[in-house]
Amino acid sequence: MLEPAKPRVRFAPSPTGSLHVGGARTALFNWLFARKYGGRFVLRIEDTDLDRSSPEKERVITDDLRWLGLDWNEGPDAGGPHGPYRQTDRLDLYRRLADRLKDSGLAYWCYCTPEELESRRNEFLARGENPRYDGRCRGLTQDQAHHFQREGRRPALRFRMQGGTIQVHDLVRGDVDFDGDLIGDFVLLKSDGTPSYNFAVVVDDHMMEISHVIRGEEHLTNTPRQIALYQALGLALPEFGHISMILAPDRSKLSKRHGTTAVGEYRERGFLPEALVNYIALLGWAPSDDRELFTLEELIQAFSLDRVVRNPAIFDEKKLLWMNGHYIRTLDEGRVLERFREMASFIQESHKQAEATKKRMAPFFDDLHKQAEAVKKWLPALREKIHTLSDLATLSERYLPGHLTFSPEALQTLVENRDVTAKILHSLSDSIAGSPETSGEGFKQIMKEIGKTLQIGGKALYGPVRSALTGEIHGPELVQVVPLLGKDEALSRIRTALQKMTKQEELSNGS
Ligand code: GLU
Repeated sequence: MLEPAKPRVRFAPSPTGSLHVGGARTALFNWLFARKYGGRFVLRIEDTDLDRSSPEKERVITDDLRWLGLDWNEGPDAGGPHGPYRQTDRLDLYRRLADRLKDSGLAYWCYCTPEELESRRNEFLARGENPRYDGRCRGLTQDQAHHFQREGRRPALRFRMQGGTIQVHDLVRGDVDFDGDLIGDFVLLKSDGTPSYNFAVVVDDHMMEISHVIRGEEHLTNTPRQIALYQALGLALPEFGHISMILAPDRSKLSKRHGTTAVGEYRERGFLPEALVNYIALLGWAPSDDRELFTLEELIQAFSLDRVVRNPAIFDEKKLLWMNGHYIRTLDEGRVLERFREMASFIQESHKQAEATKKRMAPFFDDLHKQAEAVKKWLPALREKIHTLSDLATLSERYLPGHLTFSPEALQTLVENRDVTAKILHSLSDSIAGSPETSGEGFKQIMKEIGKTLQIGGKALYGPVRSALTGEIHGPELVQVVPLLGKDEALSRIRTALQKMTKQEELSNGS
């Protein structure tokens, strides 16, 4: 591909739902393409589905885009020379152009009702053919039209498709041929006067001087319709590039049932925007080497449409988790805490908006300030272990006074060598009780002594102690944990563990 001079690209979300990873990737590729070649990134809101669109959803989408760092040069709020940038603010324009197409014979009024269209659609399907409009209203006489009008039918405006092959020169997929005869006359204006997607998109892409239309593969079959319109209107075509689908690891289309797909939910779960951006950049784009970690700036340098692949991309949340953990560890502690607080505020804010979110999130978010204190205290011990910012909350919560619960593995570790474990825990308890506060070094020393006296070491010694103090068999270094817990909490935990062991023994003895 020739290097484009100052391309104009757009991201054109319909505000009918939240921003998902697929949409975020489309936005990102467009943004990178614009930044790389000194072009302009336009945000256009395609809100002509009046029943499903809402300003609130538009706000959520734009907020998520900003959070990802994908800002736009022109758009509903930013303004620009080609506005307005919200389709419902452009309805007059579509209607004027539709009239022109009608007057020049390129379009005609169709009075077929949804029920009639549906039954003919089924007939096509029954014959094993592609359903399409059968052209019934193409040659209506004035009288027939008046008759339909008197019946109260409200017409839609249809584009008169020409037959023949329509070729899409796609920057990602190469040349793809479509048979124009199989497409049928499609709607330009719906009977409520709003434009169809295919019509509005051609008008807008042309008027906004979009040079490259980069979007998801699901729109490839719309492209021959759009090309037919450009040609009928005598307009130059933009370049097209359709990015492959994103699949789940089981190779089915990625959807909610596979887990989180909405950017906002990743935000709530404590993902960093730099991690999400880095990860989604690699969904369908392959850098020239096998490097995986990129900042936005580095992505701008490395990105090219030539390296966008045709094969579907597989969304692997495990890898995203790994990457997020990596990015968290690149931040200093102050920044991690700042990000944690940002996440907390975002959750509180979205709780206000949607009760459903609140139900999904763990109850500890009810008291985020208390949580933030615990997170601050435990961050040094936990930062090596976490994948998300919310891990910080869940993990540090375990160390709050009164929050000790034992995992089945930890319980098993405590009871399997009951007598030795009881000895270890009693000695530990005595030593901790006998000194003012136990430092990391002090704890090491105590453990050494106990090991020497009881003639054990390694896992046999540390396993029960870890289980007693944390309720888990894995976790941060005990030399960090013990001083952070403090004397009283450490002693109380050892007591709890010993009681638990006794209870377990009673249970297994059947008493
Ligand atoms: N509004 C369309 C969508 O959200 C955009 C299609 C396009 O980019 O042409 O899928």
